[in-house]
Amino acid sequence: MQKYIIIIFLFLFNLSFAKIDYFLELNIQANTLNGIATINYDKEKPKIFYKSVLIIKKIKEKKNQIKIFFSRNLNYKEEITIFSDGNFYPTIDELAYYHLKLKIPNGFIPISESENIIKKENVYIFEFPYKAEGINIFARKDYKIEKLKIRDDLTIYGYFYKNGTIKLLFLAKDYIKHYESMFGKFPYKRFSIVETSYPYGFSFPTFTTIFSFLINKDFIFNSSLPHEILHQWFGCSIYVDSKNGNWSEGLTTYFSDYYFSKNKKEYRKITLEKYDALANKNIPLKDFKYKKDKSYEALGYGKGMFFFYMLENLVGKNLFLEGIRTFYKENKFKRVGFYDIETSIEKYYKKSLEPFFNQWLNKAYNPDFSFKINDVIYNIDHFEIFLTFIQKEKFSLNLPVVVETNDGKERKVIQISDKKQKVKIKTKSIPFRIYIDPEYQVFRILKDEEIDPLLYYGLKNVNKLNKNFKISNLENKNILFIDNDFSYLKNIIGNFEIPKGKFVYSFKNPLGNKKFIFLTNDEKLYKLATNHYGNYTGVIFGKDIKKARSISFYEYYKNIYDKPEVVDIQKGAYNFQNLLKNIKNKRLIYIGENHTEFEDHIIQLEIIKNIYKKYKRIVIGMEMIQKPFQQVVDNYIDGKISEKQFLSKIEYYKRWGYDYRLYKPIFDFARKNKIKIIALNLPVEITEKVRKCGLGCLSEKYKKYIPKNLDFSNKEYREFLKIIYSMHSKNKGNFIYFYENQILWDETMAETIASFIKQKPDYKLIILAGNGHLRYRYGIPDRVKRRTELNGVVILNNDEIRKNIADYIIYMDKIRYKKSPKLGVFIEEKDGKVIIKKVLKNSLAEKLGLKKEDIIVQVSDMKIKNIYDLKLALTFLKKGEFIYIKRKGKLIKIKTKFTA
Ligand SMILES: [Zn+2]
Repeated sequence: MQKYIIIIFLFLFNLSFAKIDYFLELNIQANTLNGIATINYDKEKPKIFYKSVLIIKKIKEKKNQIKIFFSRNLNYKEEITIFSDGNFYPTIDELAYYHLKLKIPNGFIPISESENIIKKENVYIFEFPYKAEGINIFARKDYKIEKLKIRDDLTIYGYFYKNGTIKLLFLAKDYIKHYESMFGKFPYKRFSIVETSYPYGFSFPTFTTIFSFLINKDFIFNSSLPHEILHQWFGCSIYVDSKNGNWSEGLTTYFSDYYFSKNKKEYRKITLEKYDALANKNIPLKDFKYKKDKSYEALGYGKGMFFFYMLENLVGKNLFLEGIRTFYKENKFKRVGFYDIETSIEKYYKKSLEPFFNQWLNKAYNPDFSFKINDVIYNIDHFEIFLTFIQKEKFSLNLPVVVETNDGKERKVIQISDKKQKVKIKTKSIPFRIYIDPEYQVFRILKDEEIDPLLYYGLKNVNKLNKNFKISNLENKNILFIDNDFSYLKNIIGNFEIPKGKFVYSFKNPLGNKKFIFLTNDEKLYKLATNHYGNYTGVIFGKDIKKARSISFYEYYKNIYDKPEVVDIQKGAYNFQNLLKNIKNKRLIYIGENHTEFEDHIIQLEIIKNIYKKYKRIVIGMEMIQKPFQQVVDNYIDGKISEKQFLSKIEYYKRWGYDYRLYKPIFDFARKNKIKIIALNLPVEITEKVRKCGLGCLSEKYKKYIPKNLDFSNKEYREFLKIIYSMHSKNKGNFIYFYENQILWDETMAETIASFIKQKPDYKLIILAGNGHLRYRYGIPDRVKRRTELNGVVILNNDEIRKNIADYIIYMDKIRYKKSPKLGVFIEEKDGKVIIKKVLKNSLAEKLGLKKEDIIVQVSDMKIKNIYDLKLALTFLKKGEFIYIKRKGKLIKIKTKFTA
């Protein structure tokens, strides 16, 4: 039933199209236009309108026909222009079939909408067999007609009188071919480029006009010409139903001016800046009808162009083009609005585009947001940056975000839909800086800090000041200075080198949000510059006009961590990237650490990653694993055992003890890339024993770990260790044993390293050890050199700057990491049982309801027999897993809600 009604409706609608015959007679001597408009219609009488300049002589009305006899005065000399705006002939406000018969004075050559022109003496008949919005006429005496036949059903004409050349016809041919490949066949058999003295470019069905004075400028060739040609598809064959928004300028600008622009990012940014500077931001895009002024231009052409850019980004390039092609095919010679484009694209997109269209067309405001960084933390294997976005008005946005990390740029897209929204961003490497929409992909109100001081801003209210101004006069105002010497502004805008010639320049006003300072030495040029060179930040008028613009300075970003600072002990300050470059060819690299400082390990990892990028044969030597467990480490790296098995087998928490998450990023990287890790350290049983009673009391079992040569000759090292020894009050025993132990330790690590260097001559070694084993090269580096001649480069993390202490010292901001969960209890180990002796306030244990005297039996899948088991189990504990305890003999299962 419903279908039936629609069909009938369309049928009636079709019939109601009118046919209009015009007979116009131009008399140049008498300065008159006389005419007869014959309007034929089928059902409903169309609304006829005309302006008061017309003198209506007679109206004859019969069934389905109105005949209007009219005249008007004209005052044309060399060029005649007649528009369909009611000023030249009566017209109707609906699509109609037009037929024009024009009688013109001797010698004049006219052009109007037509696929075929018939000339009989002074009478021209223009045949245009399609529905149109009206007819427009241009005529001159001195037109020379150039002709370029493209194919049987398409010829391009040039109506030129002064500056137009056939170059335009050949360019037009290329543009037409280009657009035909994109959108489908050119709608007409005839197309003309018409040179006029009228200072605007127009497009009408089958022809376009170009201002004679500009017709040979590059911007006509590169952007105006394709723009006007594309209007033949969009605007001049599909017509605009302006009640539902003029989409044609946005779409045409997108596929011509923008499409052919060399720097698309800059084009988008200028579009946003121009909108910011000139548009009335409370007019929604759907209310754009035509270019009344610069404000409307910024809306209809600017925001309109951006609308299609974002639409293409949303649906994808191919689908977008497919949709626009269909839009053209199905809407030729109809008046349509934005929502007809939605319908065409949705056919392919298969999802509703209504929210997108609604948001960008109907809202009388624009996205305007800011953000702040709340927190940054390293969580197991990535950095987490916590941000809050605040929007002035609610928009649904996909915001591109670029995080500059030590590993390069990481690109993300974040979704924002609330006025206040928290967002978490993850990065793999150290994040230094976060940029929001740095490519200008979202239509939005730019922030003050990212805006360029375009001359367009000079079209706003500007206060004139002279050199006797007070600083307070600048506050929150746009200021214009006119002078020949601006040295008195040095403290405000910096040194401005005055160019030769007349100029207008603009600067950001440091004393205002989006306020600007303009300098010129010729006030008359100020209006010209701001009107016609608004895209630029400065213009010099000379023989050639020179323009200035810089877009790279200003971006919207916030800093996260400072970049690591590096001190080259010989040469002074250095930067991290240079350090990486400098050490990439070194065979042996020592990187020190403070064991518990997470940033030290992150720096170690960044260096490893960087070297590995260029050179795959590397091994990592680590102090924190003890030699007897080499096979376990190999198995872990080979993927034969799990991380949990690995830590359990190397007795990690018993033998090293620091939170494994401090080292985990390095192990993860090594395992992922199958990079061998060498265990460097002695078993703790030996070091404990030697510390107690010296090398002499080691049993045979352990003697095999003692290197052949132990070098005790470094007196400075001995003195150095003595100081350390005396600083620790718990060291009450024998310094000699302490010293022996330290040498044994260093020599063992050095020998392990040396033997690897000899075995694998084509491998690089990266040694990770406490700063103390590397300072002044006393501990490990000199002892490796003694064995191999290899010096190695020594890098310390966050240490004191002293002569010869190392080659480099790196200073990095404190990086917080998500530590392994801690229960927050004091425990007692008894007969293989772990018993809680005290629960700390506000601890995880308290939150979980653990009590004094509870026995911890199992955490997740791990049986707990001692504190090391417990620490290991907690390292892997996840939210929702269970802790099993025995309370007064009864087994209780507790679900973990938190990981604290
Ligand atoms: Zn246009």
